[in-house]
Amino acid sequence: MDSIMWHYEKLGSFSVSSGYKFDCNEGSNPGSSALSGDVSWWKFLWRMKIPLKVKIFVWRACENWIPTRTNLLLRKVPSDSICPCCDQKAETTMHALWCCPLLRPIREVCGFTKDCWGDDNSMFLDFMIYCRRQLVQEEMDLICQILWRGWYNRNRGVHDAAKMCNKEVVPCARAFQEEYLLANHALNAEVSDRRGNGPIWQPPYKGTYKINTDAALSVGDGIVGVGIIIRDYVGNVIASSAQAVQYGCCVLIAEALAIKKCLLLARHVGLELGFIESDAQVAVNLINNPDIPYSEVGLIIKDIKSLLEEFSDFVN
Ligand SMILES: [Zn+2]
Repeated sequence: MDSIMWHYEKLGSFSVSSGYKFDCNEGSNPGSSALSGDVSWWKFLWRMKIPLKVKIFVWRACENWIPTRTNLLLRKVPSDSICPCCDQKAETTMHALWCCPLLRPIREVCGFTKDCWGDDNSMFLDFMIYCRRQLVQEEMDLICQILWRGWYNRNRGVHDAAKMCNKEVVPCARAFQEEYLLANHALNAEVSDRRGNGPIWQPPYKGTYKINTDAALSVGDGIVGVGIIIRDYVGNVIASSAQAVQYGCCVLIAEALAIKKCLLLARHVGLELGFIESDAQVAVNLINNPDIPYSEVGLIIKDIKSLLEEFSDFVN
């Protein structure tokens, strides 16, 4: 019996992405095609509220650039194509990330993907485009986190490192996504309020930015944790940094250094600061005092004062 082969795809079966490429190459208008989803897919992917490393991973997977056994073989890396997890089937990208029988606990927990189509030989890009049509934004964000975490877990297993049970992948990915959203999408103020952890964050004037700094001392190991965060007037996090530094001095110096670091960062990215807020009350008092102490911290305060001349306001 004859069978129909789709010669725009290596495996001979039709896929949405190859169909789209064919559609464009044939000179038809991609905008009018029902298959033009992959152009908007890339835009969609880069705008997702997920960590950059996850976006880059999904992008590489969509381009079939992740080192599955099948891809290694295609690139002439000595390997066999059999999946190192189930030891049953060829490890294509779809198999490694979604279809491997060992990933069943992940697929089962992801009830929202039950209508998402795809098998071992599907193009991963097609699968993602299909998912995007079926799922809401939050589900898409989560599924990308899950795919990244599943692949990370697979790699740990391949390299004989401790790996988590696949049942734990979804809760872990969900927790990471929630943590990411908390850190990056201005829920900080609300959370602070709900938990009663200190004052509610107040925004600066429209068009300006606000810096918060904090330094905390871990007495036992002589380490100072320095945190800084810059937000715009609607609360979006523009930049943040957290560092653990060995201190041979005192918390006051660490706090002053945190403020100086903030100002350097703000100057570097050209922000117009409306406010700087710091829990470091002693450091703030020193900065607001016209007399500069003759000490190590005094040198830092002097630097801060000259940096502040470049900004309009300083409010503690
Ligand atoms: Zn497998």
